[in-house]
Amino acid sequence: MTSHDCSLSVLHAATELFPWIKTGGLADVAAALPEALGTIGVDTRLVIPGFPDVISALRDDRVVYEAQGLLGTSRMQLRLGTLPSRNTPVYVIDAPSLYARPGSPYSHPHNGDWGDNLIRFAMLGWTAARLAEGGLDPHWRPDVLHVHDWHPALALAYVADSWPPVKSVFTIHNIDYQGRFPPADFNRLDLPHWLCAPYGPLEFFGDLCFLKAGVLLAHKVTTVSPTYAREVTEGQHGHGIDSVIRSRGDALIGILNGVNYSVWDPRNDEHLPARFGIDDLAGKARCKTTLRSRVGLNDRGDAPIFVVVSRLGWQKGSDLIANAADDLVARGAQLVVIGSGDRQIEERFKELQNRHGGMVTIHTEFSEPLAHLAIAGGDALIMPSRQEPCGLTQMYAKRYGTLPLVHAVGGLADTVTIETGFSFVERESSLTATIDRVLQTHQDRPRWMQMVSTAMRTDHSWGKSAEAYRNIYLQILGNTPS
Ligand code: ADP
Repeated sequence: MTSHDCSLSVLHAATELFPWIKTGGLADVAAALPEALGTIGVDTRLVIPGFPDVISALRDDRVVYEAQGLLGTSRMQLRLGTLPSRNTPVYVIDAPSLYARPGSPYSHPHNGDWGDNLIRFAMLGWTAARLAEGGLDPHWRPDVLHVHDWHPALALAYVADSWPPVKSVFTIHNIDYQGRFPPADFNRLDLPHWLCAPYGPLEFFGDLCFLKAGVLLAHKVTTVSPTYAREVTEGQHGHGIDSVIRSRGDALIGILNGVNYSVWDPRNDEHLPARFGIDDLAGKARCKTTLRSRVGLNDRGDAPIFVVVSRLGWQKGSDLIANAADDLVARGAQLVVIGSGDRQIEERFKELQNRHGGMVTIHTEFSEPLAHLAIAGGDALIMPSRQEPCGLTQMYAKRYGTLPLVHAVGGLADTVTIETGFSFVERESSLTATIDRVLQTHQDRPRWMQMVSTAMRTDHSWGKSAEAYRNIYLQILGNTPS
């Protein structure tokens, strides 16, 4: 907190921002958390790369800084502006040679990761760092820098030698993605050498590792659920980086993500053919009918529909769903998959769709309206993730009265209870056995409706999490005991 101003100010740095640039939950969090902090009085701003849809949505902007040749980049302008329907001011890095590319923020449409990702994300880290030091915008300097995932994590390296120190929080959204680069790239980053010395904060088994720098250099490290905070320190989920995370001891805290109910609420969801709430579920039945005709499922009346809205891959346990699909159909249920990713798994679902016409369907487009319709029109959402840092769709599903069936790991273990869904622990049960439990319960209408009602009433709003983050900011500023 600055002496002239008793408000707390925080700069968030991230690569994704719903609805302009999204590949997963990070976009939803980067959109919702700064707004939630704003509503509890934290002066919050965000810095993000200038991807095409962000640049075209930016309003009332002005250039606060510009440079030529920074990190070898031809032109970079830092613009401060606003985005439609948002209160959080945003700094956008307008560097067309790095970011003016359509599609995923990370990879070429057909050729894997962009070859210049090192510099694309170093630029984000550099900008966040210099803003946090007060060097780019003379009118605003945050008390705390809050960095999300590996992409902006070099910000912590760029402020490592700053004086006075820049107070910082690093949030791990998923340790599967670590930002590893060849060691020779270090010379392109314009950083002091001690950072990449053997066992230094950026060095990891001979590579550069952005995630490691974030974990070691931030004042506090958070991750997106309490159970995941424990799992990332354990060998089986730690991806080799568990010992680094363990070394942070009590500096690691798990805070559950929330749901933005202004986007995910069946009572006012603009993507649905009919809206509904706990006291009037007629709209949910209409959504089910519309979902069937939209995705090409037969009309099987009350037969339960299992929905998947997810990236497809090993982490998400999508192969387990494909393995269980024959049994699911044999029991009279239907399956809708909205998602893409691992090509082999996509092919397996296409083969199931061919074999079980009208009972199984897959839609590989990334479609916000279809995701909402599936979550509203389904009866149960399947999420047998092998690892799940937090997971958002199971919390969305609860609000829509679509009961989650989950593997009890990470945030799934923290958000799905026996009153609100179905979970299994691998050693004790299987996905197919749990599908059977869902189907038996679905037959027991009073019990099912009781669970639907409890799930819909659960409050996963951001307020509590925003308070928890504010407490962490205050702790590292020394304003409350840690
Ligand atoms: P992760 O971030 O690991 O992908 P989360 O459950 O935290 O998983 O968040 C996934 C987000 O991406 C949710 O908002 C979900 O609705 C969305 N999503 C996933 N696949 C699709 C898709 N094919 N179309 C639209 N939205 C999708």
